[in-house]
Amino acid sequence: MKLSIVLPIYNEEGNIKILYHKLIEVLSKIDAEYEILCVNDGSSDKSLEILKSLSSQDRKVKVINFKNNFGQTAAMSAGIKLSKGDIIIPMDADLQNDPEDIPKFLEKIKEGFDVVSGWRKDRKDGLVLRKIPSWIANWIIGKITGVKIHDYGCSMKAYKREVIKDVNLYGEMHRFIPAYASWQGAVVTEMVVKHHPRIHGQTKYGIGRTFKVILDLIVVKFLSVYMNRPIHFFGGLGFMSFTLGIITGLAAVLLRLFGIKYIIETPLPILSALLIIVGVQLVAMGILAEMIMRTYYESQHKEPYIIKDKINFDN
Ligand code: UDP
Ligand code: MG
Repeated sequence: MKLSIVLPIYNEEGNIKILYHKLIEVLSKIDAEYEILCVNDGSSDKSLEILKSLSSQDRKVKVINFKNNFGQTAAMSAGIKLSKGDIIIPMDADLQNDPEDIPKFLEKIKEGFDVVSGWRKDRKDGLVLRKIPSWIANWIIGKITGVKIHDYGCSMKAYKREVIKDVNLYGEMHRFIPAYASWQGAVVTEMVVKHHPRIHGQTKYGIGRTFKVILDLIVVKFLSVYMNRPIHFFGGLGFMSFTLGIITGLAAVLLRLFGIKYIIETPLPILSALLIIVGVQLVAMGILAEMIMRTYYESQHKEPYIIKDKINFDN
């Protein structure tokens, strides 16, 4: 068994060495080969120098150096793509996650879970700007994805390689991997982890992230349900709008015929025109989406399904 720890690092000069020593202490005790992938996400402080010196002393420390700041999700994604482990554990590099939790994650994976998600039950961050928005976001994500875990935002999670190797991450999407994996048949669980206040350096996020997370959620949900058939989504809405447009138009005409109201006395004609135009637009958008989707699958020879096993096929 091989374990890969993935650390996204953006201006963490005060934390890297302490974290490294804590990691080594824990990892040297477990019965597994390991590697520590450090992704320097365009730091402007001494992070890179520190990483270079660590990696020259210890070959297990691998450094991926980004040209610019591409964000935590991109950094995690690069680390995961270049990792070799059968089990992958990403965690924050700011000492808010605790390396001592690693053996517990491994235990859970050994029990047979494909994804183990950390739950910062006693989270040491601000209440109003961090914890409350996060509770609300977690509730919404749980509702929409149908995968109920308490703390999507915790970056410390453990994954079996096979559930994560084909996942492409964009935006703030690293937090949705458990949902993604679960939709594709993975067994997901969660586990309480320790959480510490940030001592060195500063958080890189504010309240704005909550909105980005919700937007990403919409994309993830859309892609999971309608990826193969976008016309059903846009076309459905389009038909609804078009039908309502016809009904409101008819209503305007009927009101006039029965002498109740002149057509220009009601908002119905404008509403009708609007709904019909929107309806046609939505259907057209659905057709465009279908074409894009087909290009996506066919240009890459991807199939819109996942086969688990095949029986009696030679080879
Ligand atoms: N991070 C990163 N790129 C960024 C922002 C953050 O690699 O653009 C890293 C950061 O160095 C840390 C982790 O992502 O290791 C979590 O960041 P932070 O502690 O700022 O987030 P918070 O814990 O406040 O949610
Ligand atoms: Mg942090």
